[in-house]
Amino acid sequence: MGSVSGLDYDYLFKILLIGDSAVGKSSLMLRFTDNTYLHSDSYICTIGVDFKIKTVNLDGKIVKFQIWDTAGHERFRTITANYYRGAHGILVVYDSTDHRTFENVKMWLQEIDRYASENVEKLLVGNKSDLIDKRVVDFEVAKKYSDSLNIPIIETSAKNAVNVEQAFITMASNIKKRVGQPVI
Ligand code: GDP
Repeated sequence: MGSVSGLDYDYLFKILLIGDSAVGKSSLMLRFTDNTYLHSDSYICTIGVDFKIKTVNLDGKIVKFQIWDTAGHERFRTITANYYRGAHGILVVYDSTDHRTFENVKMWLQEIDRYASENVEKLLVGNKSDLIDKRVVDFEVAKKYSDSLNIPIIETSAKNAVNVEQAFITMASNIKKRVGQPVI
């Protein structure tokens, strides 16, 4: 750990959640950071939440995640270059029960190309895997697409806590591989 420098972590990663409204970005963040899930009947859409912190031990190194949610701004297309600045990794989320959100992944990737650092790490996340009967985005189709772009893919359920931690850990491992040794 970076005790010499006085820091309580080895790595600090800024991670963004991007994607259409209601795909589950906030739910994924809350599941990962607080291990909670807000059911829709109690869910209040808020605008203004900025980021949450979560620290994990990854292969003996302390990784501090600073996770940013769009906090509703995607609805109004008011995500600005500032949001993307300094991001190490971006989770591009779609809802596997809503084909339109998958089609829009292309648009979100264009936004990333436009605003984010060119070597930002990306992960495609197909959320709501628990809604088996409502699935309309076939995993094999999504995988083929992500493979063609050289972007890893994972399916998650924020509701049932399936693969959520795995998604963030995969992201951190991939960033760590790229940045190498702790920069402290
Ligand atoms: P955001 O707008 O992308 O941040 O999406 P939210 O996190 O607000 O979620 C939108 C809706 O989808 C809410 O009603 C959530 O309860 C629901 N939701 C989020 N994740 C899941 C999931 O994994 N499974 C199911 N069944 N519903 C989910």
